Amino acid sequence: MAKPILVANWKNQPGSLAEARALLTQLSRNSKIYKKLSLFIAPPLPYLELVSRYSRNFARLASQDIPSEFQGTQTGEIAPDILKSFGTRLSIIGHSERRAVGETNELVSRKIKVALRSNITPLVSVGEKTPDTDGEHFEFLRQQLKASLAGLTRQAVSRVAIAYEPAWAIGKTAKGAMVPIDLSESVMFIKKILADMFGRRVAERVPILYGGSVEPSNAFALAHETGIKGFLVGHSSLDHKSFKAIAESLISK
Ligand code: PEP
Repeated sequence: MAKPILVANWKNQPGSLAEARALLTQLSRNSKIYKKLSLFIAPPLPYLELVSRYSRNFARLASQDIPSEFQGTQTGEIAPDILKSFGTRLSIIGHSERRAVGETNELVSRKIKVALRSNITPLVSVGEKTPDTDGEHFEFLRQQLKASLAGLTRQAVSRVAIAYEPAWAIGKTAKGAMVPIDLSESVMFIKKILADMFGRRVAERVPILYGGSVEPSNAFALAHETGIKGFLVGHSSLDHKSFKAIAESLISK
């Protein structure tokens, strides 16, 4: 069976190269544990080289975004070929923090195609903006998935991974951590949409990760019997002890 997937989204942290190096040194002490997973680290871009050097033994590189054009001069963008040259294997696409500053489903759809063309796994982030108790978020999820994955062939979509990340659950610290109580329902719903669009066999092949305030205290419950294949972890990935505990919860699956 494929290994569980764990993606560390460092966002715009740690605050300095020295701190990033210190975190990597701490992570590398638990490399035996991380080797039991498919671990990806998505650092701020200036740390790519450092991360690829320090984590070669236990993790692969990821990016937090990818351009929407494959080629052409684009000031401020990082070409997929450059990402590839550092060893980037996966790109988070459509994170709610990017959608909040104007990223549309149409842009997400273009970025997925650029990633696939570059042989980088697109990890497509979807999720409703506000907590919902009467099931309205299912319609929101349906639209996001349909528009983001529009135009992909079955073969292409079987190289995609999905991160279910309700925006309302992201970035809460241990005390205020809020996670969905019905995660398995959302995972099942995502699988159903994928099956409607691409057939059941393809839908079964697409790994679904969960992201949003994953902490050592909730990781075990979120990982078990919910249908997820892994986690996308933000703030807890910056604390080596928390991150190790989350990794262990996934391994015990
Ligand atoms: C994220 O931003 O992808 C994320 C999951 O953040 P956090 O774990 O901090 O909620």
